Amino acid sequence: MNIVVLVKQVPDSGSERRLRDDDYTVDRESASNIINEMDEYAIEEALRLREAYGGEVTILTMGPARSVESIRKALSMGPDKAVHVQDDALAGSCALGTSRALAAAIRTLSPDLVLAGAESTDGRVQAMPHMLAERLGFAALTGARKLTVQDGTLTVERQTEEGYEVVTAATPAVVSVWDTINEPRYPNFKGIMEAKKKPVTTLGLAELGLAAGEVGSAGATSTVLAARNRPERQGGTKITDEGAGGTKLVEFLASEKFV
Ligand SMILES: Cc1cc2nc3c(=O)[nH]c(=O)nc-3n(C[C@H](O)[C@H](O)[C@H](O)COP(=O)(O)OP(=O)(O)OC[C@H]3O[C@@H](n4cnc5c(N)ncnc54)[C@H](O)[C@@H]3O)c2cc1C
Repeated sequence: MNIVVLVKQVPDSGSERRLRDDDYTVDRESASNIINEMDEYAIEEALRLREAYGGEVTILTMGPARSVESIRKALSMGPDKAVHVQDDALAGSCALGTSRALAAAIRTLSPDLVLAGAESTDGRVQAMPHMLAERLGFAALTGARKLTVQDGTLTVERQTEEGYEVVTAATPAVVSVWDTINEPRYPNFKGIMEAKKKPVTTLGLAELGLAAGEVGSAGATSTVLAARNRPERQGGTKITDEGAGGTKLVEFLASEKFV
C-alpha cells in the first residue's frame, strides 16, 4: 500500500504567535515552528499500515524553505521519502489554493491512501482532507479514531460528539485522523541519522503544472481585511464559600454554559 502523509509545519502553539502587520498572514519567521501535532498521529498510522501490509510512506508538505526541518523530523519517525511543495508564488494561499497545489502533488505520487491530521493548530479549517478528496476523486473518511484495512477496503470509526460512526470505502481514499487513534512513536537515534539521507524532492509550480494566478495571494478567494490582538485576560470570578459555595459554583458554570 502506497501512502502519502500530509505534514504541515505550524507555529508552536505553546509560544507567542502573531500575525504580520502588512497582510495579516501568520508570522512564521518569528515563530518557533513544529510539525502540526495531529500529523504525527497520521504518520504513526501510516507506519503501522506499512508494517502490516508493506508499501511505501511518503511525507508531503507545502510550505516555505524552512519547512524542511519538519520534513526531516517527520522522516526520522520512519517514512521512506518526502515531497516538498515550495514556490514563492504559493505565499498567501487560501484553503482552495493550498488544496489545488497539494492535489497536484498527490497526483504525481498515485497513492492508495492519503493520511492527514483532522485539523491544523494554526488554521484549524478542518477542510483540507475534504477538499483534496473532492479534487482527486478519492473517498473521504474524515475524523477517524480507528482505521482498519481488509482486502482493499478501509473501515474507520469516525469520531462524533455523541460517539462514533462506522464508515467504509475502497481505496484510493483520504483519511484524516484525530489524536485518539494511536500513540506516535518517538524518533530514535538511528531514525534521526537515517532521515538526513532520505530523499526529499522539491516541486515548484511549473513541475505541478500550475500557474501563479491559481494559487498564493494572487489566486486567493478570501482576504483578511483586519485583525487585532485578543483582549488581555481579565481576573477570574472568585466565589467565597459561606455555606452556599457549591450552589454558586454550579450557577456560575451554568451561566458560562459549561454545564
Ligand atoms: C487570505 C488567506 C491567506 C493565507 N495565507 C497563508 C500563507 O501565506 N501561508 C500559510 O501558511 N497559510 C496561509 N493561509 C492559511 C492557509 O490557507 C491554510 O493554512 C491552509 O488552507 C490549510 O488550512 P488549515 O491549516 O486550516 O488545514 P486543516 O484543514 O485544518 O488541516 C488538516 C490537515 O491538512 C494537512 N495540511 C494542511 N495544510 C497543509 C500544508 N500546507 N502542507 C501539508 N499538509 C497540510 C495537515 O495534515 C493538516 O493536519 C491563508 C489563508 C487565507 C484565507
